[in-house]
Amino acid sequence: MHVWAHDHWSFPLPPQHRYPLSKHRLLRERLIAEGVCLPGEFHDADPAPWWALTRVHEPALLGRIRRGELSVREQRGLGLPWSPELVERARRSAGGTVLAAREALRIGVAMNLGGGTHHAGRDFARGYCLFNDVALALSSLRDGGLAQRALIVDCDVHQGDGTAQLLGPDPLAFTLSLHGARNYPFQRIPSDLDVDLLAGTADAEYLAALDDVLSTALRHGGYDIAFYLAGADPWRGDRLGTLALSKTGLRRRDALVLDTLRGEGLPVCVVLAGGYAPDVRDTVDIHAATAAEVAARTVTT
Ligand SMILES: [Zn+2]
Repeated sequence: MHVWAHDHWSFPLPPQHRYPLSKHRLLRERLIAEGVCLPGEFHDADPAPWWALTRVHEPALLGRIRRGELSVREQRGLGLPWSPELVERARRSAGGTVLAAREALRIGVAMNLGGGTHHAGRDFARGYCLFNDVALALSSLRDGGLAQRALIVDCDVHQGDGTAQLLGPDPLAFTLSLHGARNYPFQRIPSDLDVDLLAGTADAEYLAALDDVLSTALRHGGYDIAFYLAGADPWRGDRLGTLALSKTGLRRRDALVLDTLRGEGLPVCVVLAGGYAPDVRDTVDIHAATAAEVAARTVTT
């Protein structure tokens, strides 16, 4: 399976900030070790051009990000210290989703080993998210006349507030977010369809809710593409989540989303989103299982 990645962009960060981003390199190694991807099937994502990012984000915000002029409040909200390497990496992560979305249109399903940065909105960058890759990819597909209508299935444990701000009002996009109730972000921007799950929600209940809302979202119909944010953080051991899914349950979630969307004939672009297990290898297990589910449905040409 061909995938897009940006993990070679190593950069100096203090240890307490390294964790959320360290999973990418480990995931690459795991996918090779498990035979999901050959070494030659990893493609470096190009950085998203600044002009393209202005289709999604306020130019003033982009200027502050580019020049390292985020306010103290903005830095704190972002949760990562600014550096030129962080910005480069985030642009490549977003660029990977653009390429994966194009590949999904071509072959049916494709994956970016990054992205899912759903807390980035038009005028804010927060929760480890600098740029909203899904909104960027959709704007790129629209510019190219490749797709107009999109379904966003956000299964990260945190509500997709940035995506909701950017695409909720868009009549040609439908934003669906399943997440822990009373979890970050505490001030929500409503999606088209939000599902607040109680703390401790486990596999069966989660999968039933997901199945139900996928049907609802698909009833709106007519989509040209779907984006699936396969967050690893609904796992029961995640430090930043409140749900209680098992790894098996998360893999069944991936299969359910992929089979349901593909069953409707929809191209699916899969992105990683969050994952904050105390031992990063657990997060990598979950993302690797998602990649294996994607690979099982991919015909590489
Ligand atoms: Zn998350």
